Amino acid sequence: MPGPLTTEAVVLRSMRYGEADRILHVYTPMRGRVSAIAKGVRRSRSRFGGRLEPFFRLRLGLHEGRSELLTVTGAETVSAHARLREDPDALDAAARACDAVGRLFDSAEPHPEVFNLLCTMLALLDADPAGAAAPARRLAFRLKLLLAAGYAPQLGACVTCGEAGPITAFSPAAGGVVCGACEAGAFALDAEAHAFLVDALGRPLAQAPAATARVLRLADRVVVETAEHHGHVRLRAAA
Ligand SMILES: [Zn+2]
Repeated sequence: MPGPLTTEAVVLRSMRYGEADRILHVYTPMRGRVSAIAKGVRRSRSRFGGRLEPFFRLRLGLHEGRSELLTVTGAETVSAHARLREDPDALDAAARACDAVGRLFDSAEPHPEVFNLLCTMLALLDADPAGAAAPARRLAFRLKLLLAAGYAPQLGACVTCGEAGPITAFSPAAGGVVCGACEAGAFALDAEAHAFLVDALGRPLAQAPAATARVLRLADRVVVETAEHHGHVRLRAAA
């Protein structure tokens, strides 16, 4: 639909282009991932100021022409997330969250729940930069992204034979937990790690459960290998 368009958006990436322009990758509620060019943005008197930077939540004016690259016509700040920029851990968590969204949701398909999840993560990081960047929160965010992408791991019973348990392993190929009889091609997953996956998916992001480093490593392996098998997407590690 060519013409003007107004949307909220989170800036995922912002790249220099030519003398004075920037190319942005933004994530929007109804248009998924959008690429747009902002012209003249690096001139000192640009009307966009410094707000076309990663992690800004904006209300964007865009013009859609025939190209896949839209043109930015206006930008108002909804939230700058200034506090998270002052904390290296929070900055790293925000960068990895935006990277994971960009890789798992790289099309125009609308996923308003992913936009909301990303906004919640950035708001938590901004409100409590040290606490919210904790590895357990990063893992809970990634598990919820898998759910939104349609690759949520099956955690209720053995995904292969349907037995309730005991659960001994996780099979990335089968997409869930498996029992001892079905664990070919799976990696070991104990009760503590299984419980973390269930809790992290079930609770709000603000109440992500605590976990040991070992459990978090297993949970990240679940996320990375599930995304690879079912989404054919290679994610960076959570931390
Ligand atoms: Zn089984």
